[in-house]
Amino acid sequence: MPLPIVRTVAELRARVAAWKAGGERVGFVPTMGALHEGHLSLVRLARTRAQRVVASVFVNPTQFAPNEDFDAYPRDEARDAALLASAGCDLLFAPTLAEMYPEGFATTVTVAGVSEPLDGQARPGHFTGVATVVTKLLNQVQADVAVFGEKDYQQLQVIRRLVRDLDMPVEIVGGPTARADDGLALSSRNAYLAAEERPVAARLNQVMREAIAALNAGEAVAAVEARAAEALAAAGFGRIDYVEVRDAGDLSRLGPGPVDRPARLLAAAVLGRTRLIDNMAV
Ligand code: AMP
Repeated sequence: MPLPIVRTVAELRARVAAWKAGGERVGFVPTMGALHEGHLSLVRLARTRAQRVVASVFVNPTQFAPNEDFDAYPRDEARDAALLASAGCDLLFAPTLAEMYPEGFATTVTVAGVSEPLDGQARPGHFTGVATVVTKLLNQVQADVAVFGEKDYQQLQVIRRLVRDLDMPVEIVGGPTARADDGLALSSRNAYLAAEERPVAARLNQVMREAIAALNAGEAVAAVEARAAEALAAAGFGRIDYVEVRDAGDLSRLGPGPVDRPARLLAAAVLGRTRLIDNMAV
């Protein structure tokens, strides 16, 4: 059966309300489309937590800077809908730009602290765009549980903070990063990689694994970060936005010495015209 697609908040609310009235728990997986196994793994995870799963596909312009890839971002709704149906999704919410940002739209949500370092520095305004659209989507869907990927670890922490701070009645669940066999984190943006760049892209995760091993062996954070950045430059990455060990919760900086609390290694680097990000638990 083809996946039902709704484009307005009113239609979405009516469907979800009917499920909830029947006592069913509702899960939600927001995406920007161009779906891959990573997204589908989140739908399956949502399925284990709820009887019904809503996915959204909305390429949110406010989280792209003017020089970024909003226009080029891959879009294929029919393919996305078929993949979602195969993963057990019940409903696709695919709103128009005008439905999400009608004339006169004037409100933004900014999460201080956790959204400031890392991608907050590298992509000014990005997390305000994310926090605003996620607030809207969570209010629109009214799900019991929403699933986000650890692939975007800082985003996940920003959303956890946002939901706590604004008392939003939804459980936030993080899903593990789906990877290719060589370790490269699956991403819609991997489609931008040229064939000869693909093996280099995998070096990002390989270098991170080496760094994690060194950290777990007690090596100092500062030395490991510096060596990882050098290894990425040597592998052929251009701009390296960051390779840093951070507190796993609030993403604050660790001291230069050995890791002394739950931590996360996060990296972002540009290969050709593709910006890749990845992160792993220390
Ligand atoms: P996006 O469509 O890239 O905005 O991502 C939508 C959701 O899928 C976000 O919660 C992402 O963190 C998650 N996601 C993206 N790539 C992966 C992946 N490789 N593994 C798991 N989740 C992912």
